[in-house]
Amino acid sequence: MHEMMVAESLFTTISDEAAKLSAKPVSAKISCGTLNAVNDEALDFAFEAITKGTACEGMKLQIDHKPIQGKCRNCKASFDIEFSRPMCTQCSSEDFELLPDAPLILEEIEFQEE
Ligand SMILES: [Zn+2]
Repeated sequence: MHEMMVAESLFTTISDEAAKLSAKPVSAKISCGTLNAVNDEALDFAFEAITKGTACEGMKLQIDHKPIQGKCRNCKASFDIEFSRPMCTQCSSEDFELLPDAPLILEEIEFQEE
C-alpha cells in the first residue's frame, strides 16, 4: 500500500523536525503529481494510525495535487494537461510531450506557537 509508505516517511521526517525544534507539529503540506498521486483519504487514515500516541497525533495533512504538464512542440509553451482535452492551451496543438510528473514533496510543516 503506497499510502502507508508515504505516511511512514512523512512521520519520520516530521518527527525529526519536531524533535530538533522541540515543538509540536500541527499540520503539514504535501504536494504530489498525478501519476504518483496519493489517495487523500487513504493517506489520512494511514497517517492517523501511525501517529497515534505520538507528538504528531491529530496533525492535519493538506495534500496539493499538481496536474501533469505538457510542453508544446509547436509553440514551446508549457501547460497543465487536462485529460478530457489534451492539447496545448496556447495554440491548441495536439503535438506535445509529457513533462515528468511532480514528485511527492513535503512542502512545509506548521508547528504550534508557544
Ligand atoms: Zn502550443
